[in-house]
Amino acid sequence: MSRILIIEDEADIADLEKDYLERGGFEAEICNAGDEGMKRALNEDFDLVILDLMLPGKDGFEVCKGIREAKDVPILIVSARKDDIDKVEGLGLGADDYLTKPFSPSEMVARVKAHLARYTRLTSTESHKNDSDIIELRGIQIDKPARRVFVDGEEKIFTTKEFDLLTFLAENPNHVYTKDELFREIWGMESIGDIATVTVHIKKIREKLGDDSATPRFIETIWGVGYRFKI
Ligand code: CA
Repeated sequence: MSRILIIEDEADIADLEKDYLERGGFEAEICNAGDEGMKRALNEDFDLVILDLMLPGKDGFEVCKGIREAKDVPILIVSARKDDIDKVEGLGLGADDYLTKPFSPSEMVARVKAHLARYTRLTSTESHKNDSDIIELRGIQIDKPARRVFVDGEEKIFTTKEFDLLTFLAENPNHVYTKDELFREIWGMESIGDIATVTVHIKKIREKLGDDSATPRFIETIWGVGYRFKI
């Protein structure tokens, strides 16, 4: 089970975050001061840190910097002040995501899940993960550095997002991703858009691969859930 550290001095907010995270299937621990929070983040094994900025002991800016210098753990900054969030981004302190208070707790849990999924993939050593520069599978060849795709030896032209989406799925085969997860992964957290765009892109990718949704060679539709790249 993933362990989340909440560094937050407002007890109501910390409790709300903990409650939602636990309902989302995570283990969550609260620390109400910056210095102690940083110590715990550095000395213990947490999978993600939720960090407030205005904290006693050490402020969130210092804590973020201190954690990032030593660890890759995802950091989600939560602050009531948009100015402070801009400042963290501007300083390049290495936070992974930002939420402005008041926020929707379910949105927070969704973002935590997305970051953990991404972080797990980055650090994953699963044997079926395709992380070489050139992915070759059943007649398709994806040349990642050159961003070119060949289908049965013939080059097909993919748009940037189509290429990113295909590559992402092919690099993580046999894993079912929801449209929402794919949208976040390829279009980014801050994008204004519609997850229906994922469906449109999948359709285009299938056309270019000569794939058929009824009897797919590559991308399977898992009804009511999302998509999976077949191993
Ligand atoms: Ca605070």
